[in-house]
Amino acid sequence: MRACVLHQAKDLRIEERPDRALAPGEVRLRLGRGSICGSDLHYYFDGRVGDFAVREPLILGHEISGDITEIGPEVEGLAVGQRVAVNPGRPCRHCDFCRSGRENLCRNMIFFGSAAKLPHLQGAFIDAPVVQASQCHPVPDDMPHEKLAFAEPLSVALHAVMRAGNLVGQKVLVTGCGPIGALIVMAARHAGAAHIAVTDVADEPLAIARSVGADETVNVATEAAKAEAWQQNNGTFDAALEVSGNAAALDTCVLSTRPGGTLVQVGFLPSGPVPVQVNRLMAKEMQIRGSFRFHEEFAWSVQALATGAIDASPLLTAAYPVSKIDEAFEAARDRKRNMKVQIYFD
Ligand code: ZN
Repeated sequence: MRACVLHQAKDLRIEERPDRALAPGEVRLRLGRGSICGSDLHYYFDGRVGDFAVREPLILGHEISGDITEIGPEVEGLAVGQRVAVNPGRPCRHCDFCRSGRENLCRNMIFFGSAAKLPHLQGAFIDAPVVQASQCHPVPDDMPHEKLAFAEPLSVALHAVMRAGNLVGQKVLVTGCGPIGALIVMAARHAGAAHIAVTDVADEPLAIARSVGADETVNVATEAAKAEAWQQNNGTFDAALEVSGNAAALDTCVLSTRPGGTLVQVGFLPSGPVPVQVNRLMAKEMQIRGSFRFHEEFAWSVQALATGAIDASPLLTAAYPVSKIDEAFEAARDRKRNMKVQIYFD
């Protein structure tokens, strides 16, 4: 098999690795599409994501789709040739969090392509990835891989929206319009939001946000006064989702959310302490919540994409063969030209 292996920042190699026999419960896939995520970008360009540094060779990738080519022992309900979305997380299913239905907080989570633990948890940008049958969500055979590979980031967006609470009829602010921010716009609309405002520091992603349903977009680099107007009357929004990982955007969320509102932190802020106007949170009786990965939302995400209830394809702006993987990462970083970039094996 061939794998995309990161040795250190900007040193990504396509390496031949030996295929191994399947263990009970495993299946082998032919990769359909792999989407480059913000965390893959941080590993590639910085050698780290937040507190997680690359300390040994790491196969990148966790947003993948594929077709089953081989079924291991003791696998039921799947067949060779079936098209599947792959949940990159494998919770242990026996710790206290798994038992209480919060599998995304599992104490023993195995998650593709993460340097959070040592040895690192290897990823899935592999031409023939081996995964657990339980990670596979079958879809109709004619569903395009380029749509299916959005299942994981859409799950992140659906979970963030769930963390925000009931959004029916609500006014929602989304700060940061990368792929997750744009998917949150779609997920919030799907969840019944009445008005969705989005901020970013670039015009191009905001244009995409409008095309997928944002009611109002503000470039905070060039139109700061528009965002400041949201602070009037002690805040405008019922819920704010901070996706940019920028401390100034977090401040905008605190100041722009109305009393009693909810702030969900979705993006990775810089490592270490971050200033927050806690007295504002206190005096407005706001809730601040984290949102990390997803759990049952993965199945909803696959269903929403398969039925067309949510169409993420306007976010796909480029696809590259792995022979041009460095170009793919450069393209994925260029926010003026690209929203989501995918790779495939040629
Ligand atoms: Zn667990």
